[in-house]
Amino acid sequence: EQDAPLSRADVVVDTAAIQHNVELLVAIAARSGAGTMAVVKADGYGHGAVAAARAALRGGAGWLGVRSQDEALHLRAHGLTAPVLCWLHLPGETFTEAVRADIDLSVATLDTLRAVIAAAAEVGGAARIHLKIDTGLSRGGATEEDWPALVGAAADAERAGLVRVVAVWSHLACADEPHHPSIDRQAERFQDAYRTARAAGLDPIRHLANSPATLTRPDLHFELVRPGIAIYGLNPVPEAATPPLRPAMTFRSVVALVKRVRAGESVSYGHTWTAERDTTLALVPVGYADGVPRAVSGRMSVWLAGRRRPIAGRVCMDQFVVDCGDDAVSEGTEVVLFGPGDHGEPTASEWADAIGTINYEIVTGMYRPRGHRFE
Ligand code: PLP
Repeated sequence: EQDAPLSRADVVVDTAAIQHNVELLVAIAARSGAGTMAVVKADGYGHGAVAAARAALRGGAGWLGVRSQDEALHLRAHGLTAPVLCWLHLPGETFTEAVRADIDLSVATLDTLRAVIAAAAEVGGAARIHLKIDTGLSRGGATEEDWPALVGAAADAERAGLVRVVAVWSHLACADEPHHPSIDRQAERFQDAYRTARAAGLDPIRHLANSPATLTRPDLHFELVRPGIAIYGLNPVPEAATPPLRPAMTFRSVVALVKRVRAGESVSYGHTWTAERDTTLALVPVGYADGVPRAVSGRMSVWLAGRRRPIAGRVCMDQFVVDCGDDAVSEGTEVVLFGPGDHGEPTASEWADAIGTINYEIVTGMYRPRGHRFE
């Protein structure tokens, strides 16, 4: 890796780290008798969905979770045959391709159930569905009022051989604050919804826990957990003791240009930084268009020639400047923006803290959508 030629913006993903993290999470879930669904939405949180999924399966995950049908089909197109759940659908979306590809579909409304049944009838098999109850996040999921009708219709469809209700599931709002009272409230509502499904003759598994709940609430593991951020080695609960997760992503670039400036010279747009003494500046050819948040201007350092060195002035669209003092740095030197932190480089979590966001946003900032629609 060290000897690989440097390019302008390298996102290096340690798939062995993902496998290691999943092994840890699988062991934690297994202690409660639960399986593990590795969440690889948003292109595997910016790490590459297919590579992340393969590493997660090697680490013992039995399931994959993604946002949308297209993400699930993308995994299938790359030969991944493990159970895949997708949970966010568009109005009027049809599910024929998903049912044909044996993709599990979240169902939270009667409209979606009808669309899934139509797809199953077309394909000629039972669609695998996970009924979603909104237990308090107030995002997707059936309301408690709508739940009995949804469960009843799903049970009818199961008896007719059109669907198989694999699971009842929900998502937590405040799992990253392990003592937040909403967690138990959501868990109670979840169990009520599950009992309603059982009373309707269904025999689903249950899944509720994201990474924080997987790490801190074994009582909420049920039959399956759904960790995302932790499989990439990032800690979602800073105040909790976590197992030795290994951050999988390193974002690195290279010094494109070195120059010496005199005391009093200012740097980058808006001249927000001024050299207090004669100093050496290194130009790094990545910017906010590459996922370096502009908000880190003046707040972060990067790892360059064996030391952390501060970003001087504003991050631009395609470049930023680093203050190297009187040290001799040369063009072509590797610059590590963030990584596992093993060698002293900043981590994605430090970047997040510096700008008041979460580590999720830093790594998914490396996500580049697969194409635009041009009009
Ligand atoms: N389950 C669902 C429905 C999600 O949307 C997500 C991601 O936000 C996860 C699980 C994984 O969450 P986390 O990355 O906090 O583990």
